[in-house]
Amino acid sequence: MSKARISTEAGFAEAFASAAPESLTEGRIRVGSFASGSEIGLPFVILKGRNPGPCLWISGQVHGNEINGIWAGLDFIEALDTGTLSGSVVLTPTANPLALDARRKTAPQDEQDLDQTFPGNLNGLVADQMSAALFDAAAAHADVLISMHTMNNLFNSDPYAVYKLHPDGGVGEEKLFSMIRHFRPAVACRMAVKAGAGELPGNIPGAIDYQMLSRGKPAFMVELGSGSETNAECIRQGVAGLYGVAAEMGLLSAPMRDPAPTLRRVTRRTHVMSREGGLFRTPLVPATTVAAGDPLGTICTLTGRLITEPAMEQDVLIIGIRKDPVVHTGDRIAFVALEWSDVSV
Ligand SMILES: [Zn+2]
Repeated sequence: MSKARISTEAGFAEAFASAAPESLTEGRIRVGSFASGSEIGLPFVILKGRNPGPCLWISGQVHGNEINGIWAGLDFIEALDTGTLSGSVVLTPTANPLALDARRKTAPQDEQDLDQTFPGNLNGLVADQMSAALFDAAAAHADVLISMHTMNNLFNSDPYAVYKLHPDGGVGEEKLFSMIRHFRPAVACRMAVKAGAGELPGNIPGAIDYQMLSRGKPAFMVELGSGSETNAECIRQGVAGLYGVAAEMGLLSAPMRDPAPTLRRVTRRTHVMSREGGLFRTPLVPATTVAAGDPLGTICTLTGRLITEPAMEQDVLIIGIRKDPVVHTGDRIAFVALEWSDVSV
């Protein structure tokens, strides 16, 4: 049964403060406007429980083609009983509506990776202004923030988590693991933040989870499958994880469901790039290990001649594997862990 909704024109702070117990409020955080007058805004949903308590903030996406996290947030809110909720759940389904509308990772207006622009800048490009609008609201109200993502459209992966550690935020790995375990991720990847760490180019400290950590608030990323799709199993796993985090925070009196007893912590990972173009084919699935020298798949020409069998010089654990067979030189064919260990949580 769908919950009764109240629509508000108020800004986020006012909407949050005035939301009645056991209510569902929807509105928009205003960012700005197009030349034609259409508003640029970030939709939000506030679910307020019967009793006061902490705020769990779900960022459904910052990359516009990543959809499963939006569904997980919506399904979680729909399933919650406000009568047994102490505190609130906020969902901002997209932080990047321009990219979502364009079915792309980034907004065509400025092509910025929004997750490298936090805490945002009101004197910046449109992505900077969108991230400022979200961050101002989230930093002021969230006690815990979960940043939902997916891999890109060309890859298969099982749901996994990514986390960062801030030297001054006071939120340690143990605290993050106590929440991450509820998602039962294939791996929990600790992502290096400092410049030159090499995994990804760009401004890694500009991720929303890292900026929340800098404010002393637990935050991490969950990667739910592939982009531009609705995957029921990934969404179900996301909802279960959100339940567990809410229980962990004291939002729910319900017992915790089934958190993972161990996490597979990844401390080093890399993309594997193709040396040659052609058609890539692999029998490998995510979350399996591949021994040093064993092929990750094959690349053949369009006439069927084998060109290469890409392999790694060390054992690797598959985090994501390419599903789109068309590859050119320099395209990613796999995303693999190079260093991992199992940690009791
Ligand atoms: Zn993403």
